[in-house]
Amino acid sequence: MNTAYVLLGGNKGERLTNIEKAISFIEKLVGPISNKSKIYVTAAWGNTNQPDFYNQVICVSTKLSAIALLEALLLIENKLGRQRGDQKWQARTIDLDILFFNNDIIDSPDLKVPHPYLHERKFTLVPLAEIAANFVHPIFNKSIAELENECSDELEVNPLM
Ligand code: ADP
Ligand code: MG
Repeated sequence: MNTAYVLLGGNKGERLTNIEKAISFIEKLVGPISNKSKIYVTAAWGNTNQPDFYNQVICVSTKLSAIALLEALLLIENKLGRQRGDQKWQARTIDLDILFFNNDIIDSPDLKVPHPYLHERKFTLVPLAEIAANFVHPIFNKSIAELENECSDELEVNPLM
């Protein structure tokens, strides 16, 4: 079995429903979810003229390889109506990113793991720290708690409830 951390995010349409639907597709197509952060709300990063983002991090056990996991996540994004033409920083129904896959380091054109920006973004680090504060980043050799302390991203990340 492999252990993956996945970031769910969206700021278009029924944000809570989209996250819930993505979670149930992941349970069906990927594997059992062993841990979930709360849902957090963040102002849109890089483009403030759009709705706030909802973000959640989950830990999922899976028999899928990393690339098969990516394919499953892209399929789920499509099922939930994400327009592949959506530009970067535009409103999106659901975005599913692989943060970690075991302790693997993957650097291929289609898949980069650990996610290359996770240490720069509070909207990723805050939910990740809630469920994996002691997990050590395999490139930086620092825990998520340390990366969160060192991160200078100033956007506020607040629990939804
Ligand atoms: P972003 O998540 O950066 O806003 P997209 O969701 O549009 O952008 O992703 C575009 C592509 O990023 C995906 O088709 C996938 O091939 C690639 N990608 C590379 N590394 C990852 C990763 N760790 N998790 C998810 N997608 C990734
Ligand atoms: Mg993505």
